[in-house]
Amino acid sequence: NSFTDCNIYLSLKFSVILKRNDFSCRTLHNFILWKLVMSLMPHMIDEYQQKRVEFRKILLGILSERNRWSHCVEWTNKKLGMAVGALFIRDNFNHDSKETALEMIRTIREAFNELLAENHWMDSGTRAVAKSKADSMNERIGYPEFLKDPIELSKEYVTLQITENHYLGNVLAVLQYDAYHNLEKLRKPVDKDKWTTEPAVVNAYYNPNKNDIVFPAGILQPPFYSQHFPKSLNYGGIGVVIGHEITHGFDDKGRQFDKDGNMMQWWNNATVKAFRERAQCIVDQYSKYKLQEVDLYINGRMTQGENIADNGGLKQSFRVNYFILIIRLRISCVSKLRMYWLYVMPEYFGVSCDAECFEKTITMILTTMGPQKTTWFFSCGSPW
Ligand SMILES: [Zn+2]
Repeated sequence: NSFTDCNIYLSLKFSVILKRNDFSCRTLHNFILWKLVMSLMPHMIDEYQQKRVEFRKILLGILSERNRWSHCVEWTNKKLGMAVGALFIRDNFNHDSKETALEMIRTIREAFNELLAENHWMDSGTRAVAKSKADSMNERIGYPEFLKDPIELSKEYVTLQITENHYLGNVLAVLQYDAYHNLEKLRKPVDKDKWTTEPAVVNAYYNPNKNDIVFPAGILQPPFYSQHFPKSLNYGGIGVVIGHEITHGFDDKGRQFDKDGNMMQWWNNATVKAFRERAQCIVDQYSKYKLQEVDLYINGRMTQGENIADNGGLKQSFRVNYFILIIRLRISCVSKLRMYWLYVMPEYFGVSCDAECFEKTITMILTTMGPQKTTWFFSCGSPW
């Protein structure tokens, strides 16, 4: 067909276009060139920016664009994440944070296992496999070790040429370097130890096909975490995030992968049925929430993974925190609970939202949703 005649590779995202046979090589080439031009436009001078703003206004309803500095910083971090990460950790990362985070993960994983043992709807076989999956979850905290070794770090960028005072040339050089790096991985075994996340981001992840949880250095700072905070605040902040990521390993998507990250059915059929019934409660509950500001209901089915993870994360972190506060500190139950919730609630719900975020929220609810949070609070403040 025309696609193979043109000898061009396109990602699956464009498969809709490829299924049609009524286009010529010329159309396809123009399309690809147009994609390249579109990806370069955010980097160009104001005259081009204006056209782009008008186009996005009609296409996505976006009324205001981000500041140029913020776009440049984000793009540089995304494309040269390890170099930026090395600078970030040198000046901003307290190395004791890694030890503390590991200890918190240990206690929250323990709480997860306790809750697992208490749950009455799982059969004992599935429960045992679930425990072994939770126990073998790898954790990545902060940054990969080679960032502290300048020689190893520069090896990453050996093929990249950056010149002073030549901005667009540098952008093209980075895109070329990126493409080369990606092609290098082709047909090679997956390197499971490789970090794919830039360290200087405020985010956290669960990777189902590696069974790891990742907490980059960027999230291990206030308001999520500080070595100067009391434990209760850290459990209310990063603790909830840790529990959230662990729970992703057992949500509607994560549960389909085994402890080695292979897609596999390790649940007994009756337990799958029981899981679906309970997931339906979460779907129904969240579908009733309306975001007044945009006058739209949350799609509970699409966001169930995030909502399951939020519920799990809160439960596990609360459990650890409850015992720390009630048993060890010996202060009254009420004040301890208040201290915990006072922190958790603003952290989760009190994030402010600017004009761009407002538009983004509407777009997310109407389109992609997927693994993103769609609630007003979550989409604005916490991307995990
Ligand atoms: Zn999540």
